[in-house]
Amino acid sequence: MSTTSKYICNACGYSAEVWNEPDKAPIATVDTRHCLGCKSLVEVPIEFHGGGLIGDSDVVPSFLNRCPECNSSNVQPWNVRDGCPKCGEVMTQEAQV
Ligand SMILES: [Zn+2]
Ligand SMILES: [Zn+2]
Repeated sequence: MSTTSKYICNACGYSAEVWNEPDKAPIATVDTRHCLGCKSLVEVPIEFHGGGLIGDSDVVPSFLNRCPECNSSNVQPWNVRDGCPKCGEVMTQEAQV
């Protein structure tokens, strides 16, 4: 299991849990992406490895690299340097408790 960090925008209060590295779940690897459709940080399946489960490893599911919230395919890798997806201000990592 990968771990997540919580980032908070000090300007607008937007916060999101961000994967520190892609998480290899059994069906698909998920990673945090910046969705330009709904201007949010979302958890997006980026690599499918459950082909054996459905008996056809050539099938590439349509949900890959799509925002699960708004179904936009306009998702990009996000780095804290990119700032808040809502307002573009600096996001800071919330202290671990
Ligand atoms: Zn913001
Ligand atoms: Zn979206």
